[in-house]
Amino acid sequence: MVRNPVCLLFPFLLSAQLMFWACPSRPATSERASEPSAGAARSEVDTGFDGDRAFAHVSRLVSFGPRPAGSAELAKARDYIIGELRSYGLKVRTDEFTAQTPLGPRRMVNIIAELDGQSRDAIIIASHYDTKYYQKFRFVGANDGGSSTGAVMEIARVMAAKRERPPFSYWFVFFDGEEAFCEGWTDCGTSDDPDNTYGSRHFVAQLIDHGELKRVRALILLDLVGYKNLELARDTLSTKWLVDAIWQTARELGYGAYFVESEEGVGGDDHLPFLRAGIEAVDLIQLNSYPHWHTPEDTLDKISPRSLKIVGDTVLASLPRIEERLRNRRAP
Ligand SMILES: [Zn+2]
Repeated sequence: MVRNPVCLLFPFLLSAQLMFWACPSRPATSERASEPSAGAARSEVDTGFDGDRAFAHVSRLVSFGPRPAGSAELAKARDYIIGELRSYGLKVRTDEFTAQTPLGPRRMVNIIAELDGQSRDAIIIASHYDTKYYQKFRFVGANDGGSSTGAVMEIARVMAAKRERPPFSYWFVFFDGEEAFCEGWTDCGTSDDPDNTYGSRHFVAQLIDHGELKRVRALILLDLVGYKNLELARDTLSTKWLVDAIWQTARELGYGAYFVESEEGVGGDDHLPFLRAGIEAVDLIQLNSYPHWHTPEDTLDKISPRSLKIVGDTVLASLPRIEERLRNRRAP
């Protein structure tokens, strides 16, 4: 995950109003004494999403060690993800490419698992699966890269297990190279040629090259969704109706305490290339209130199966609402 570039420039901004809009202050959250409990929801939700399964994926991914783009550890993680997705009966393909990075060319691989629906039009549910490259400390990205990868794998399993075909096709996409190679957002790259989101930018470019951009109706992106003190705020770049649909669903499930009404100033993530291409997108991310972001402490003990389930349940339960809106819009 990358921080909002505007925030990094804030000492140079003259407009305090712009700064407030772009850089919401970190909520003064203390570490809650206990992680989200089953009793926190009004009722148990039966979406089929198993928080323990998702957590086991995160644990396995972390066990491979730091997983920066191009590393042997990421290749092991990739083999694991692909093996799991195939075991669910999904069609899985990889898209390999060479990215020019500040550290030289790097081989990167996006993973795409497809679930055919009644329509060829597709909704993408995605995460990045690389972790940020650090020389000075060991960074295993339990929440940043791990949690969302495990959650999307479990969402894919649940959807693949359903007997009826969904109204839309679903693509479960795992992007490589979301993280910058340089330490900070402004260290390397420009807005036209950024040092991050390599996989998602390549993916969108491929959609355009193959004339398939119009097939993609929406992107639901997950990133940092497993913190035991889960608190997801509304990403200001995301498409509002998608955020509203997910937040309304969370309230209906009794998960309103974890999908809060404050704003999350993310700035750049894998949804940005989609938004720029005209695809509506939402990013579910806990950045500002996750104290271990891009630190050696982003480890498995910060992750809760219950948090993964809250997010997984909410995404799965919001899909009919999102599908209905997309279907109605295309109607003549
Ligand atoms: Zn990150």
